[in-house]
Amino acid sequence: METKYIFITGGVASSLGKGIISASLGKLLQARGYKITIQKFDPYINIDPGTLNPYEHGECYVTADGQETDLDLGHYERFTGIRTTRDNSVTTGKIYLSVIERERRGDYLGKTIQVVPHITDEIKRRIRLNASKEPFDFVITEIGGTIGDIEGQPFLEAIRQLRWELGRNALNIHLTYVPYLSAAGELKTKPTQTSVKQLQGLGIQPEVLVLRTEHDLSDDLRAKVAHFCNVEVEAVIQSQDLSSIYEVPLNMLRQGLDAICLKKMGIEPGPPPELKDWRSFLERRRNALNVLTIGLVGKYSLQDAYKSITESLTHAGVYRDRKVKAVFINSEEITADNVADRLEGLDGIVICPGFGHRGIEGKIIAAGYARTRDLPAFGICLGMQMMVIEYSRNVLGLKDADSMEMNPVTPHNVIDMMEEQKNITNLGGTMRLGAYNCRLAEGSKARAAYGGADLVSERHRHRYEVNNHFRDALEASGMKCVGINPENDLVEIVEVPSHRWYIGTQFHPEYSSTVLCPHPLFMDFIKACAGND
Ligand code: GLN
Repeated sequence: METKYIFITGGVASSLGKGIISASLGKLLQARGYKITIQKFDPYINIDPGTLNPYEHGECYVTADGQETDLDLGHYERFTGIRTTRDNSVTTGKIYLSVIERERRGDYLGKTIQVVPHITDEIKRRIRLNASKEPFDFVITEIGGTIGDIEGQPFLEAIRQLRWELGRNALNIHLTYVPYLSAAGELKTKPTQTSVKQLQGLGIQPEVLVLRTEHDLSDDLRAKVAHFCNVEVEAVIQSQDLSSIYEVPLNMLRQGLDAICLKKMGIEPGPPPELKDWRSFLERRRNALNVLTIGLVGKYSLQDAYKSITESLTHAGVYRDRKVKAVFINSEEITADNVADRLEGLDGIVICPGFGHRGIEGKIIAAGYARTRDLPAFGICLGMQMMVIEYSRNVLGLKDADSMEMNPVTPHNVIDMMEEQKNITNLGGTMRLGAYNCRLAEGSKARAAYGGADLVSERHRHRYEVNNHFRDALEASGMKCVGINPENDLVEIVEVPSHRWYIGTQFHPEYSSTVLCPHPLFMDFIKACAGND
């Protein structure tokens, strides 16, 4: 089958859930037996979100091949189980960089380089790149931002051209918002009409509209939108608030989003997919009423900063029949005096990843508290490094043990900069990124959690590492280095075996947990947090 391209754009407001709709549609098409991929095109000028503060753009997600990307790629992977690559995440920065590099090489043979056609051609090339490498039936492309953004224009122009070139093999879904005015007691479709007009003004007629709403939309209202926007009534879909993002694929299926897309692209949809495993996950989720409260000890007090971690906890919780309530604990506010208070009532803690000095003493105190009270604790990346520092200070007696990231002059640099990082001056894209192997020690808890596996591969995003100089001392005093990279001998996992569950990973297991395949370490952690209740 010729590759078909589905473009997902958004209007009226940001944060309407384009990523979830893209992932849900991908899931439905995949469940029908199609080979799909989903990619995100972001109109900002950064080459990737790697250098962005989480307050700017939420969590930075990392692909197995080492690309720092938008957190929507996490949704794509968690919903569909596909493995995205660096070609699934494109920014304006990446587009311009390659055009300018080509210009410098002289590839344009004396031409003036312009947004149209050079930038738009490069966008079109990137949109088709994944399908030139693998035979995808469907490539879903989510365009970041909102219609009307100045920086989004070249992307929309590229889509307009591609739709012309691809004919029936291309389709546009436009996601908008239908607000409810409580004073008038009415839902308002005007912003949707305006947004579609704007898109039409750019030469793009959407075939399908998805209306985000907090209230149920009547048939009349949908018919009105269809009428004003040149869209068939059955192609006006509503996306109302649901109890979980994982309910969205079923909601889209009920309204036939996948079937409409197929029909519009000339494919007879046939019977709807069953989604058995997906439904049983949701069923289990609904029945998991026993609550586990897990503290996320970190410094970013925003929902999206630890997205993959909270989703991984949710997945594992469901498969352990627990409803996980993740509560944010600001590590900047934790002191030796209040730690017992702050962590009171928690079934376990995750000591979160991060960069820089702010909030790390609180993480160290929380690590010590969990270790000495036998509270299950999962340290991830910086969190693992803080576990090692706490252990070095309080068990090895190295009072000034620290990370070179925070204290470059400490004699007890138990966390040190990796050798290959020492001459790096640029911050963007230069960390240890992507999947690396990890050999698991026999008899360790970590290995048991992985079902006895000897070798696993996990994704990384860091510059610092456990200093091998202190490895023997750590081991001798009870903190075991049970995961080691076989190629470069870096410590990947530490654990304290005498503890109920005290494990730190230098890698980020949260990037690879999916709805149908929860991550083994999260599964084991949740089991420990649930104890015997
Ligand atoms: N700042 C630490 C490092 O660079 C940890 C990074 C992280 O938690 N992702 O090694």
